Amino acid sequence: MSSLRYVIGVDLGGTTVKSGLVSSDGKIHAQVKLPSLENEGPKAVIEQIKRSIKGILADVDGKSVEGIGIGAPGVIEKEGGIVKNPPNLSGWNEIPLGDEIHRSFRMNVEVENDANAAAIAEAKFGAGKKYPNFIFVIWGTGVGGGIISNGKIYRGPSGGAGEIGHISIKYNGLMCNCGAKGCVEAYIGQKHLSSRAAKILKEHPGSKIIQLVGGDLSKIEPLYISQAADAGDKVARDILVEAGTFLGVAIGAVMNTLDFRVSIIGGGISAAGKYVFDAITESVKAHVLTPLRNDSIVVPAKLGNCAGILGAAGLVL
Ligand SMILES: [Zn+2]
Repeated sequence: MSSLRYVIGVDLGGTTVKSGLVSSDGKIHAQVKLPSLENEGPKAVIEQIKRSIKGILADVDGKSVEGIGIGAPGVIEKEGGIVKNPPNLSGWNEIPLGDEIHRSFRMNVEVENDANAAAIAEAKFGAGKKYPNFIFVIWGTGVGGGIISNGKIYRGPSGGAGEIGHISIKYNGLMCNCGAKGCVEAYIGQKHLSSRAAKILKEHPGSKIIQLVGGDLSKIEPLYISQAADAGDKVARDILVEAGTFLGVAIGAVMNTLDFRVSIIGGGISAAGKYVFDAITESVKAHVLTPLRNDSIVVPAKLGNCAGILGAAGLVL
């Protein structure tokens, strides 16, 4: 006899909508991936979400599906599952996504911010299983985050908590997309990291990064920086170590504020490996108060690309 329960997790991004049938033990049994069609506006995107859910429901093989969880960019109002001003979905001001999906499928629907959903995934099924309290950081195009407190996501009064990318590490520093100065995202977000590397490389023409992009500095991506670092390129390592150090300053501030000891790092750039993790750890230890110093740890996330679907499913499991 199986006591497993089944739900659908939907990971809504600027480029793709991914839905998966997920069981309560954290396994993904089927997946449907569609383009999100974000340039055609909210209606088209919602249709794609519905199509992807229908695709899963057509293939459940007799299993009963108990609910639908959706991870979406932007700030989410829980009541009605309203998605507010997601940065990479054009024309979305306030869309009652949860209600829309509920009307079509008549089952429990929960919507949550995508970084919060990824934090929930790590807490339930990934690197956070043994830690009741941790800060989750997702480091990619931007720097997002989520706070897991006593095993549960801390959303704040209006769902906007955990925005670690917008902690300023320099009060008069670089201008960030959000309108403030010196946010850590403005230093280590994918685009910024690449342009920073391009600047530094003008003085280091022998760096392996330049070979990897065939001499075209506009083609620099974090992947190349980390490949060069793995091959022993000192300039590449220095760039990653500096980025990790910056992130550690922001994480240290959160640790001190929350009395937390654990941070879990996911997202594309976190795959850059050991140099980055060592740098983050050292920087965190250098910026937290003495009682936290010895126990402070920085752990790589476990779930990678699956975190979106699993975290969304975790909302209704
Ligand atoms: Zn900012």
